[in-house]
Amino acid sequence: MMRQYELVDRVRRYNPHADEELLNKAYVYAMRAHGAQKRASGDPYFTHPLEVAAILTELRLDDATIVAAVLHDTIEDTASTREEIDQIFGPEIAQLVDGLTKIKKLDLVSKRAEQAENFRKLLLAIAVDVRVLLVKLADRLHNMRTLHYVPEGKRKRIAEETLDIYAPLAGRMGMQSLRNELENLSFRTLMPEACAMIEARLADLREKNGELISRIERELTAELQARGIAAEAKGREKSSYSIWRKMERKSVSFEQLSDIFGFRVVVATTEDCYRVLGVVHTKWPTVPGRFKDYISTPKQNDYRSIHTTVIGPGRQRVELQVRTRDMDDIAENGIAGHALYKDGRAADTDALERESRAYRWLRRTVEMLGEGDTPEEFLEHTKLELFHDQVFCFSPKGRLIALPRGATPIDFAYAVHTDIGNNAVGARINGRIAPLLSELQNGDEVHIVTAEGQAPPAAWETLVVTGKARSAIRRATRDAVRAQYAELGHQIVRRAFERAGKTYQADRLKAALPRLARQTVDDVLAAVGRGEMFSGDVVKAVHPEFVAERSVGTAPQKGDAGWFGLRKAASLVFKVPGAEVGPTADSIPIRGLGGDLPVRFAPDGGAVPGDRIVGILTPGEGITIYPIQSSALTQFDDQPERWLDVRWDIEDSHQTLYPAQIVVSAINEPGTLGTIAHLIGETGANIDHVNFINKSPDVRDIVIDVEVRDLKHLTGILSQLKSTSVVSKAERVNG
Ligand code: MN
Repeated sequence: MMRQYELVDRVRRYNPHADEELLNKAYVYAMRAHGAQKRASGDPYFTHPLEVAAILTELRLDDATIVAAVLHDTIEDTASTREEIDQIFGPEIAQLVDGLTKIKKLDLVSKRAEQAENFRKLLLAIAVDVRVLLVKLADRLHNMRTLHYVPEGKRKRIAEETLDIYAPLAGRMGMQSLRNELENLSFRTLMPEACAMIEARLADLREKNGELISRIERELTAELQARGIAAEAKGREKSSYSIWRKMERKSVSFEQLSDIFGFRVVVATTEDCYRVLGVVHTKWPTVPGRFKDYISTPKQNDYRSIHTTVIGPGRQRVELQVRTRDMDDIAENGIAGHALYKDGRAADTDALERESRAYRWLRRTVEMLGEGDTPEEFLEHTKLELFHDQVFCFSPKGRLIALPRGATPIDFAYAVHTDIGNNAVGARINGRIAPLLSELQNGDEVHIVTAEGQAPPAAWETLVVTGKARSAIRRATRDAVRAQYAELGHQIVRRAFERAGKTYQADRLKAALPRLARQTVDDVLAAVGRGEMFSGDVVKAVHPEFVAERSVGTAPQKGDAGWFGLRKAASLVFKVPGAEVGPTADSIPIRGLGGDLPVRFAPDGGAVPGDRIVGILTPGEGITIYPIQSSALTQFDDQPERWLDVRWDIEDSHQTLYPAQIVVSAINEPGTLGTIAHLIGETGANIDHVNFINKSPDVRDIVIDVEVRDLKHLTGILSQLKSTSVVSKAERVNG
């Protein structure tokens, strides 16, 4: 077992300013906490956290990370608590250990849905501090190194999880050596025969080619030295797992693989890299199509190197990687190679800088999760594809929010807090003002602009994708609508009492609630407002001696919503004779109507699904559906009894088109209309009619009748039009 002074020595080697006392305290604390616990191997459990810490010293990590590694299993497996660690070691270390405890409970090899949820938790833990993942990876590496002690069934599960999740994550953090080792260890466990076959062949090849490899190393180094370049040329072989994967992917045999051996040339400066390239390309013929310059264009995980293949000594194909020592460090150790300590200098200088670096890395990682078209990345072979149906976004403070794909800033707002959703009035995505209905992308940083006392528009309910947002909007809308109905019902009831020569009193109505079979006074008032209850019945419930002035069939009182006879809001779909709607519509899919009245849409850009709508009753004619924002509705403002609360009854996937009208202000020049028409057509909308209004010699307004699927479709068209250079304004008529 590693001794206390050995741990301190290891850290001191790269960080002379290491906090010796802190390291010693952690050593003693964890040793006591784990006490007599044993590993599957029979070793004292405490050897495990020490080995994990040792792995991290190889990556030259800071004190807090090393200490967190020593303590990483204490909260989960011993009597220690986060509070205690907080007290003894401070909040920074406590948070790291706590993050590791959370990850430990994950079972990533489980049902797909659970996996997605677990992966989300993993990212959340990492989001707090990327060092959590570094310790987790070291923890996993040590567990994989000692996997043969674990029972067979469990062994396979752990190896699968490593191959599916942790190895790709290590790769994505640019930690190639760690990734290779994790992969090879998993490979050996999961496919022992294939692994043994490849390892035997490799040993074979090594023996056969040993002489050739050192000859190439010698000739390369000599050639470079002759040109005054100090370089170290070394042969390297592919890992057994990557060989196997390539054989599988390309369906080739071991013998057919030409790139099992490669060479790496490490030099001092970037300039030297290109000089090496010049020498190599002059001396030996190059293999076309194999040259890649990742120095001028680094990979997303910061990998930098020059790759080329030449026909080298002995007419052998020789694959070359040329890079500086720094680049090599980053290529092997990735984010850890960004060296929290460089040259032994304490880099604990700026926790903020470290945080923002980790944050940048995390943002890049989640961006990569969304990109499936980078063949050299690892997505294609991993279950991380699972998470393609999710987007990961950030709050301005760096909080990670996981949302389903297609989510909008409104969903984001509700995910953060219901109040933020209800009060949302605008959004900034990555610092730029964006519509609340734009689709969020992986890695977006979303800032929600709020204003007190807002109520969410009911239309949002159909535009958001998360259940949380949808139900919160529905609740807010329902509360608002109910309050309106209750207010209307209050007026109706008060007048009914007056007509009966009585005075309305809420507490007397309360006493009569059982007779009306309602729970609260508000329930009664809302029911009257909605027209589900007759105001006369309310008077009668309070004053049983009262005889209603109205008998069935007589003309209803104005202002009493009950006169529709719509006692129950039914869910019905109406057949509309000759309805002027979209091509395949033979019905108007609207809920909340009762009776047999004909229904139609208002002319001139009526309602589209997603609009909040109202029905206006015209006695003797039927019901006309208007979008709530329609200016035509003002003419009915003083006739509340004609307003019906209705809503869409429609599938998200419907393909019917509905008419709407938009007005576009555009530059008056040839081709403008073509641009606009093309853009609208691209979205799958129809153009029904176009009308020009000249505003000035430079600008004209174009009124366009379009047919769209729904409000989201329409909003999308408008925002696309607005982003076109020839368009200065695009608005919905009745919008
Ligand atoms: Mn552990």
